[in-house]
Amino acid sequence: MTTCSRLEKCPFYKNKLIIEMGVGDFLKKEYCLSGNYDKCARLLVASTVGVEYVDDTLYPNNLDKAKKIISQVKMGLK
Ligand code: SF4
Repeated sequence: MTTCSRLEKCPFYKNKLIIEMGVGDFLKKEYCLSGNYDKCARLLVASTVGVEYVDDTLYPNNLDKAKKIISQVKMGLK
């Protein structure tokens, strides 16, 4: 099983974001440490418009928010 290439650089994975520990651990197992990292909202934003648009309130399971950020960047609103 492969893991996300951004593990060592990702503030979420490095516990820099505010999130309840159990939820954080669950999301790490579901996204960062599994083959599902390609479904991660943070990775989607980073790979589509740039890591500078990945904010500290974006969690791996927030795909709707990720798509909103991407469309705002593409429309020049961010
Ligand atoms: S939160 Fe997303 S970008 Fe960060 S390490 Fe996990 S899968 Fe990768």
